[in-house]
Amino acid sequence: MKSKVYFYPSEIGKRRIGLAEKVLVGLKKLGSDFVNSGDRVAIKLSFGEEGNTAFLRHIYVKKVVDFVKESGGKPFLTETSTLYHGMRTDAIDHTTLAILHGFGYAQVGAPIIMADGLASEHNVNVEINLKHFKELKVGGVLKVTDALISLAHFKGHLVAGFGGTIKNIGMGLVGRSSKQRMHASSVRPEFKNRDCCTGCGVCADVCQFDAIEIVDGKANFDYEKCQGCADCIPACPQNCLKILWSEKPENLGEKMVEGVYAVLKLVKKAIFVNFLLDITPDCDCFSYSDNPIVPDLGILFSRDPIAIDVASCDLLKSVEGIPRSKIGRKGKKVDKIRALHPEIDWFAHLKYGEEIGLGSTEYELIYLE
Ligand code: SF4
Ligand code: SF4
Repeated sequence: MKSKVYFYPSEIGKRRIGLAEKVLVGLKKLGSDFVNSGDRVAIKLSFGEEGNTAFLRHIYVKKVVDFVKESGGKPFLTETSTLYHGMRTDAIDHTTLAILHGFGYAQVGAPIIMADGLASEHNVNVEINLKHFKELKVGGVLKVTDALISLAHFKGHLVAGFGGTIKNIGMGLVGRSSKQRMHASSVRPEFKNRDCCTGCGVCADVCQFDAIEIVDGKANFDYEKCQGCADCIPACPQNCLKILWSEKPENLGEKMVEGVYAVLKLVKKAIFVNFLLDITPDCDCFSYSDNPIVPDLGILFSRDPIAIDVASCDLLKSVEGIPRSKIGRKGKKVDKIRALHPEIDWFAHLKYGEEIGLGSTEYELIYLE
């Protein structure tokens, strides 16, 4: 069955409505009864890495906060710590950066509450029993959250081909150890630099399989016992253990889809919004933003996390590439995600999402103007 995807183009149009107002119109169209009085509503977005300039503007987020408040809900902005080491690796740096990027209470009207705690220690195991994972660790705050509004800045991505709703939730709302399992084909702890190990024992404490012992002041790993859960790798306070990036694109995509499955098992009500604005070739986790590859297209709204990402990729196909961008003036009908990453079959993981019942790759695009 085709899922409904609402599309508000970015052109000002005859009614001369600005982009921020379009966010409100789209949300009301999709879910005027979505929020119940007293609902705790998580608004998930990326606050952007330090140096990045393409992340969502706070003015759009403010409209979403207003929408939730008008419906009697209690909104909060949420995110999780990144796997890589940067300005978003723990909640202190991350929330500081978010405020510097314009997402403070004074601008947006809602607090930031990190879904996975101070240092990604607050996660809940969600059993999913799917192809790649039996369970995943999802941000613990979501256990007591009534509804989720995902705001994804749509752009290219080095490994998944593109980043939209699936990445925003499937990677963006799981804990650091689950992110590590998504990014690696097999996990076992290895020192990046053995000298930096202080023998503090934090890694041994988090290992549920007794696979780590402190010997002569250094961590010693028993690979016979290690189950590859990845809990120890992000837990090391000295960052002595290697972050592993070995996963193939097709598996990473499917793993993120399983992440969405886990999140939506925990939070039953969700709305998905993709912003097809400033469509840069790379993720907002990068410390820069390159020229957009296509003109601004508009904002998509759906209750289906698969359909909205398919529709977004299709809309990119319908316009020409921008000169001086990474793909140059690629013509209409050219798959712009493939033009960016010819080796990545971006559709495959969306198809997998359909197979496991997350949504539909077929959709009806409904113009809001
Ligand atoms: S947590 Fe890090 S520093 Fe502490 S013992 Fe383990 S590897 Fe060494
Ligand atoms: S990956 Fe998991 S099982 Fe293996 S040593 Fe680390 S914490 Fe223990």
